[in-house]
Amino acid sequence: MNERHEARFYEVLQDGFVRCTLCPHRCRIAEGGRGVCGVRYCLGGKLYTLVYDKVVSQNIDPIEKKPLFHFYPGSRAYSIAAVGCSLHCAFCQNWEISQWAKTQLPGRISPHGEIEDREPASQWLEKLEEAIPGESVTPQVIVGAALASGSTSIAYTYTEPTIFYELAYDTALLARKQGLKNIFVTSGQIDAAPLRELATVLDAANIDLKYFKEQSYQRISGVHMQPILDAIRLYRGLGLWVEVTTLVIPGVNDSDEELKAIAEFVCSVGAEIPWHVSQFHPTYKMLDRPITPLETLQRAGRIGRAAGLRYVYEGNVPGVKGEDTFCCHCGALLIDRYGFHVQSNRIRNGCCPDCGASIDGVGMSG
Ligand code: SF4
Repeated sequence: MNERHEARFYEVLQDGFVRCTLCPHRCRIAEGGRGVCGVRYCLGGKLYTLVYDKVVSQNIDPIEKKPLFHFYPGSRAYSIAAVGCSLHCAFCQNWEISQWAKTQLPGRISPHGEIEDREPASQWLEKLEEAIPGESVTPQVIVGAALASGSTSIAYTYTEPTIFYELAYDTALLARKQGLKNIFVTSGQIDAAPLRELATVLDAANIDLKYFKEQSYQRISGVHMQPILDAIRLYRGLGLWVEVTTLVIPGVNDSDEELKAIAEFVCSVGAEIPWHVSQFHPTYKMLDRPITPLETLQRAGRIGRAAGLRYVYEGNVPGVKGEDTFCCHCGALLIDRYGFHVQSNRIRNGCCPDCGASIDGVGMSG
């Protein structure tokens, strides 16, 4: 067992309870219990993280896979994840790692974050800490691997990275000193105080805006909508480069009204924010819906542009050219993509070579 790592952002309550203040669930956790994410636990009146020193996934990805299309296009992002997640989306593509802590560890977790079939901590704790899958790491090891891979950035991704905040923050701090950028790929499920601190070491985020209905957020993902909207606004307000992704699911969020509401919200945060409308494929618990028709994605694209967004991308459909970047002023093709691959980039000094308009983003020049 590695050294126990105390969590950040919690309050000590009475009778041995603690309240985690990292995300809007604000779990009230009893001695021996874990939060909804499954990887933060209370012991002796303190909150600890189970995932400070274990990553379950490490890959070198194109930045376009995050997706971030206006942040060092064509670069590599050293991508890491730990098990656990504060959401339980029925269509999660990474459910085997995101939901692992909830389904594989001992102890049933209540909606309020308390373990229902709790045993004395001494009986499960060591077992539980050793059960966490993944490779042992330190921030130094991750940053060293990212530099060796030739990556421009480190992406905290695949599961909700907020739940491994301590590892992400310490790694990002070190990475920044070494000249690397830091990226969150997130659902936006984070409280304001940790986000403000995180923003001091973060450069960009791709944030999901999954629906524009409170009921859908609650029923399908197990969270509330308003804190997500607040977080998107705050991420951008803190000066980070932000792109937004909506997985368009037939019969769930593909009505004109809902797509328009999402696009108008994103535009109200910033017309420069790229909006990725991505194709859904049946997976995990959502097997009763078809693949999103291309026409639906194109309709979403039209709705986004009509709402005033400068850059809308129809994603997950390689070869249909919905992922190219065009000048928002003269319409010239600037970045030609095939899937996650940048085939050519005509942007020079951050500007369109044809009309000279400035192209929104960071490190955009080819
Ligand atoms: S879900 Fe996890 S991160 Fe969120 S409040 Fe609960 S314990 Fe904290």
